[in-house]
Amino acid sequence: MIMVQRCRNCGRRYFPARLLCAECDDMDFTTVELARARVETSTVVHVGQAARLVTLADDDLVLIGALHGEAEPGDHVPLHSRPVPGDGPIAVVPGTEPASPEHALRKESSR
Ligand SMILES: [Zn+2]
Repeated sequence: MIMVQRCRNCGRRYFPARLLCAECDDMDFTTVELARARVETSTVVHVGQAARLVTLADDDLVLIGALHGEAEPGDHVPLHSRPVPGDGPIAVVPGTEPASPEHALRKESSR
């Protein structure tokens, strides 16, 4: 799973994080978990070793990640912030980890 930012006022989620909510102009955010997302598009990038990049969506949240394994548009894949061993397809979205687990718990419980 990865961590994304959520507006405490309207609930809209963002990645990367923002200072101001585009929906309601609030500046009060929390961090929430996102376990899976739907593959929207995919493309192969040939720079050094070929990598398959995908756009991922979950409601109004759109992310870009690197696909490890096989998945087609419409498939839901688990999200991780770094590659993990396993058989099934995963999407790696770097930069989605909080500073520490305690940081995420503190932010979530202070609502
Ligand atoms: Zn908002």
